[in-house]
Amino acid sequence: MNTQTVVVGAGVAGLTIASRLAREGRRVTLVERDAWAGGLARTWHYGDFHFDVGPHRFHTDNRRVEQFVREVLGSQAIEISRSSGARMFGRFHPWPLRPSVFLSMPPSVMLRGAIDAVARRRVPGESFEADVLNKYGRTLYEIFFRPYTRKFLGSDPADLHRDWGRAGVNRAVIDKRASADTIWSLIRTTLLPKPVETTFLYSPRGIGQFSDRLVSAIRDCGGRVLLGRRVTALTLRDGRITAVAAGGEEIACDDVVWTGPITEAAALAGIGPVRLEFLSTLFYNFEIGVPPRVPYQWTYFGGDEIFSRASSPTAFDRGMAPDGMSGLCVEVTCREGDERWGRPEALVDGIVRDLARTGMIGSPDDVRGLHIEPVRNTYPIYGLDYPAELASCLRALGGVRNLLLAGRCGRFWYNNMDHSIGQGLTMADRILRGEALAGIDAGPRDFWEEPPGSAPAGD
Ligand SMILES: Cc1cc2nc3c(=O)[nH]c(=O)nc-3n(C[C@H](O)[C@H](O)[C@H](O)COP(=O)(O)OP(=O)(O)OC[C@H]3O[C@@H](n4cnc5c(N)ncnc54)[C@H](O)[C@@H]3O)c2cc1C
Repeated sequence: MNTQTVVVGAGVAGLTIASRLAREGRRVTLVERDAWAGGLARTWHYGDFHFDVGPHRFHTDNRRVEQFVREVLGSQAIEISRSSGARMFGRFHPWPLRPSVFLSMPPSVMLRGAIDAVARRRVPGESFEADVLNKYGRTLYEIFFRPYTRKFLGSDPADLHRDWGRAGVNRAVIDKRASADTIWSLIRTTLLPKPVETTFLYSPRGIGQFSDRLVSAIRDCGGRVLLGRRVTALTLRDGRITAVAAGGEEIACDDVVWTGPITEAAALAGIGPVRLEFLSTLFYNFEIGVPPRVPYQWTYFGGDEIFSRASSPTAFDRGMAPDGMSGLCVEVTCREGDERWGRPEALVDGIVRDLARTGMIGSPDDVRGLHIEPVRNTYPIYGLDYPAELASCLRALGGVRNLLLAGRCGRFWYNNMDHSIGQGLTMADRILRGEALAGIDAGPRDFWEEPPGSAPAGD
């Protein structure tokens, strides 16, 4: 009998798994809540302006993932040198930082930072605060990590688990050669005679092309892709899911791969309450009537600006805006349902003021259009007690024998596209080998390792 697998969520994880199963002749139905595919790796199109969900670039050390991405993009794949920045001490600097940053630092900060590097007392505990103090010292903590974390998460580093920093700092750096995971490696990277040059893969007219191509590939192999259908119920019988309800249809299934939020899977399976929370993000996509003024693809903002990052789509592909114009995608994080989420337009004047004040735009007159896009569940929030809560949720959902959780929200995993793709390739292999879904990668594991089995091909 040909097994019917329902994959919930058409982000890169769900698309990778569904495409692999469909290619091997499995019966697959991919069900997506939104009317488009891509999840967090989608592209918005407004006439001749195109915006990704913030910056979205493919970078991986994993040859199998890279091969897969190149296969999907075919001749469309373009390779780009990374050029990112950070605004600190009132100036723009390249990121990872270069020695020029020391010139803009107040001497007292430099002195205190130098003392921190040689004389620090170990702070006990599992918090992000303790981790930063131990790795970078109090000065960097006070001038950068604490204010940035409060702005980004609305939480104090003392209330977060240290995994937040381990994932976040590594994701920001993206290239392991430009290590920044202790004050010494940060200084070493900053002082390298030549900056580490990192390249990444990209698809012209936006990262969403990758997902659109996978949708076509799944359909070409006979798979079903249902867009605009939110899964609202799971029928459970004897510890197995027998059907999935989405958009008025009951889809009978043998297996379910779930890549939506783990909290939603738990609620539909009758498990709860689960105390795991996600951050959401408001994306302010500005159409700018002139070329970009700052050369970076994306820039982190560590000061009192309302936003934490701004990216420039035309620095990825010139064709993302009409000739002589550009775009600016400005990210403001919030919680679904809070004041910002409810009234995102209330922040517009302040954001435009901050863009002009920092020199990202010449003046408010440069703005010729704005599209505000609220996106749910952009980051898992690693509170202090998240490991125990996650472990207990995974254990409870592990009782559903034909359910497999995958991807960023499904595994509550602060990851990048290459991790979701790598995990998806491994999971698809194991499903095709006939392994029971609940047995695949369901145990506790270190979230910061590469997904099991994702070692470079041939190693
Ligand atoms: C601002 C930002 C910038 C980023 N930049 C980069 C980058 O430069 N490089 C990089 O590699 N990664 C980047 N990432 C991370 C990357 O986006 C993710 O790792 C990746 O897209 C996760 O894919 P996924 O399929 O695991 O999850 P998702 O993309 O979250 O996909 C889950 C899907 O499930 C759907 N869904 C949820 N509930 C239901 C339901 N009930 N029924 C049906 N469907 C449902 C959702 O709509 C969604 O499409 C960035 C992330 C953010 C937020």
